[in-house]
Amino acid sequence: MSTMYFMLTFFFSGIVTCHGSKSAYNAVPQLLLVSFDGFRADYLKNYKLPHLQEFIKDGVLVKHVSNAFITKTFPNHYSIVTGLYEESHGIVANKMYDADTKKKFSPPHDLDPFWWNEATPIWITNQQQESRTSAAAMWPGTDVKINNMTSHFFMKYNVSVSFVERMEKIVTWLNSSNPPVSFATLYWEEPDASGHKYGPEDIENMHKVLEQVDDHIGFLVAKLKAFGLWDNINIIITSDHGMTQCSREKIIKLDKCIGRDNYTLVDTTPVAAILPRSNKTYVYNLLKNCSTHMKVYLKEDIPDRFHYHHNNRIQPIILVADEGWTIAQNDPIIRLGDHGYDNALSSMHPFLAAHGPAFTKGYKQNTINIVDIYPMMCHILGLKPQPNNGTFSNTKCLLADQWCVSLPEAIGIVIGVLMVLTTLTCLLIIMKNRVPTPRPFSRLQLQDDDDDPLIG
Ligand SMILES: [Zn+2]
Repeated sequence: MSTMYFMLTFFFSGIVTCHGSKSAYNAVPQLLLVSFDGFRADYLKNYKLPHLQEFIKDGVLVKHVSNAFITKTFPNHYSIVTGLYEESHGIVANKMYDADTKKKFSPPHDLDPFWWNEATPIWITNQQQESRTSAAAMWPGTDVKINNMTSHFFMKYNVSVSFVERMEKIVTWLNSSNPPVSFATLYWEEPDASGHKYGPEDIENMHKVLEQVDDHIGFLVAKLKAFGLWDNINIIITSDHGMTQCSREKIIKLDKCIGRDNYTLVDTTPVAAILPRSNKTYVYNLLKNCSTHMKVYLKEDIPDRFHYHHNNRIQPIILVADEGWTIAQNDPIIRLGDHGYDNALSSMHPFLAAHGPAFTKGYKQNTINIVDIYPMMCHILGLKPQPNNGTFSNTKCLLADQWCVSLPEAIGIVIGVLMVLTTLTCLLIIMKNRVPTPRPFSRLQLQDDDDDPLIG
């Protein structure tokens, strides 16, 4: 009886604790989503990043985010805020061509909603709720009228605006109460730009830029504390993709295999999008044997695991370079670092760290999918998610209000239960052995007749 009482008390106190922590939130929870472009997952392991480590210590870390193919900036930023693979949200590359409308997409100054309207990003869904507002500092797509709406507060994309300026704007908006901002995004071009310039293996230069990125995180946290926002705000710091080392020796020259008048090169490297001008099979056969360092797919043969098939903006032939190789028509201006390659490569993965009342403290998880971030953000903001490719349960262990058993814990519980069962079984056997079993003929020995001298 007393054990039962203890267990019930424990159970209900757990429920009360969960709800108690939730009621500590502001009436409308606030979420700030930050992206440092091209922040490869293992930079966290290989470089000293004290401010980011401090941020993680009291929050959560996902060591590798499995991102979407192609592992480029615009497509993955849109996957984060829609929970959709690229074939479903429509931003299938940084450079696109739509055969039906003959439109071309070339960011960052292309503000045509046509490209973005196949999905609804979270900053719009957030604003469709009563008395909720979004703010954005240069996250891709936030200055475009998507479904007739931009983020309420936004900055026009301008690469020369400093991180500090962007950050100060965002914190000011988060602090404004009229209208109250519940969702905000902040984007910064580094360490992507330096990763392209130097290559991720240039330790000295990468160290310099990552130190700056880490200082930016320090500024951001200090600013949020100064405004009194730190204790109640939820912050996600993540990225779109990683980076790998390229070289001047690893170049695939298409001009050696095929004449330029046979095709239009819609997107270049490391995933080249080819629109044939002549017969598709003829173009495909010429490209197929062009290099042992790239895969050549007809659109219908693109592997299912890429989720990169069902969209008109995906061109009839796709070339995918092997890691570190560059596809060019002739002599390209080589970038020493690049991304866009197969999303199964760990060098292409970013990380995710998060902090705030919605998140567990001091928890680390190996991986989630980039499309899982969206349903998690909707949960934090209390929004009904749009249809998406993400799985909310993949992020349960990161969230303070969710019951979650991690793999080591599950193994511990199973071992514990087995030990208890084994102990109980042993005790039962011992107890059973201690009860004296009737010996055969014992009744005979107790019979009075035993003493009968006549029988003896
Ligand atoms: Zn880049």
